[in-house]
Amino acid sequence: MQPLVLVNPKRRLPARHEIGILTFAVVLAATVFYLDTFTDIHSALATLYVITLLLSAETLTEKGTLLLTGSCVSLSMFSYVTAHGLQGDMAAALRLIVAVAAMAITCALIIRNQRARLDLLRFNAALRSSEERYRTIFEQGRVALWERDYSEVRAMLMALRAQGIFDLRAHARDNPDLVENCIARVPTIAANAAALELLGIVDAQDVRSMRRYIAPDDTTFLELMVAIFENKRHFEGRGTIIAADGTNKMVLLTVGFPEDAANFNRVIVGMFDVTEREMTQKALFEAQAELALASRAATVGALSASLAHELNQPLGALVVNAQTLQRWLDRDPPDLAAVSRSAERIVRDSQRASDIIQSTRSMLGNHAPVIEPVSLIQLVAETRALMESELLRNAVRFDIIAESELPTVNAVRIELQQVLINLITNALQAMADIPETKRWIEVTIEAADAQKVAIRVRDSGPGLGSDILRNLFKPFCTTKETGLGMGLAICRSMLEARGSTLAARNHSDGGAEFEMIVPIEATHE
Ligand code: ADP
Repeated sequence: MQPLVLVNPKRRLPARHEIGILTFAVVLAATVFYLDTFTDIHSALATLYVITLLLSAETLTEKGTLLLTGSCVSLSMFSYVTAHGLQGDMAAALRLIVAVAAMAITCALIIRNQRARLDLLRFNAALRSSEERYRTIFEQGRVALWERDYSEVRAMLMALRAQGIFDLRAHARDNPDLVENCIARVPTIAANAAALELLGIVDAQDVRSMRRYIAPDDTTFLELMVAIFENKRHFEGRGTIIAADGTNKMVLLTVGFPEDAANFNRVIVGMFDVTEREMTQKALFEAQAELALASRAATVGALSASLAHELNQPLGALVVNAQTLQRWLDRDPPDLAAVSRSAERIVRDSQRASDIIQSTRSMLGNHAPVIEPVSLIQLVAETRALMESELLRNAVRFDIIAESELPTVNAVRIELQQVLINLITNALQAMADIPETKRWIEVTIEAADAQKVAIRVRDSGPGLGSDILRNLFKPFCTTKETGLGMGLAICRSMLEARGSTLAARNHSDGGAEFEMIVPIEATHE
């Protein structure tokens, strides 16, 4: 059961003057009772109980007020019965009715007033706690927050709009002082600890104006002005600020603008320091580029046997032709026509050797990637030629199946070739343990849709285990003793950087199948 609380809980320990008021109210009620019961004053004396109710209204709870009203009504009825008996006269009965009605109305009004007061108190408490919560979030949050007054700048920008200016960027170009002017008109009202830490300052006074913290070539403030100018509700940007010690910091900026223009005097600006993230990302890109280069070198290393063979042939031919040329020259008279033929062959063979060396160098070179039209059929055929000796050494049949009407794709040739060499080398290694007569690689090239071409490299090896299939494209996933497990990871990231994809599966008839989907138009990084 709930305890009956008669005194307002907010005043469990009534102040001395409230005890005085309550005592006075009781004395007044007793006096009214005495006069009403034991004197024959012919007036609605009981009405004076209303004063008792009014006096105690502040101090009592709703239940206390009801109880006091009930007591006063009972007392006035008791007085009536004592003074007039049960028959009573008409006038006295009417006076009693008036008094009871006055008490009931007063009681109802007091209760209504009490409820309204309680609601107000509750509302104030909620407001206070919400304000405290806001302050806690503002002051203790790890995000740098500023409270800034943008009202003057907004008024200025709206005035420009009213003058018929619609392109603020162009206007700022023609009026170089505009941005500076606006920055000077945005005072900071408050900044939290994280904001001061971000700027490397101790005294909040130093942050009143943002001028010295905004890098001179930073365009973010202009973009923020454009957002206000265009009545946007949010602004997000990336900018550079200068900390107190002079270091540059890259920050992400987020501002939410109030709906009501009157509230532009308190706009919250949030900033996240992304300097470290940007640096890490830069280092990551550099590391990735180096890794791609290292992997390319490894690919060339894997090709070395093939290259040695390729070079052996023209170099051998060079020697033979040089010797022949010498013989024709040694004749008496020298056979100049034969000399000329041998010389032509020497030139042709040196050209071939030079081409081979050139293509190896271009694979190793760290030049900027060039997107050019690439015929995929030609590229696969060239790659087969490049790997000819490896294919022969492993006794692997190599088939190309291609649609005749295939469009060229705009791609970085060397990257696609590197992926192909990786896939073919993996296939060769996977087939090492199966009988020579059953080893084959099949490359299918066909349109995937109107914008993409698919290249599938399938082999007759054991296929991909379910474990490996899950992690195939993750770095360091390898089943080979001397493998690094980076090849496929690099191939996929290299392709994805240009909008291509690389996927793997087991073919329903056995063997692994890798599928590259290359867009006809490569995306630039
Ligand atoms: P690595 O060749 O250094 O192991 P890769 O990323 O190129 O690194 O390959 C990862 C793993 O994927 C290989 O170790 C191998 O187990 C598996 N794999 C790749 N290609 C094939 C294939 N054609 N058949 C079977 N397994 C393959």
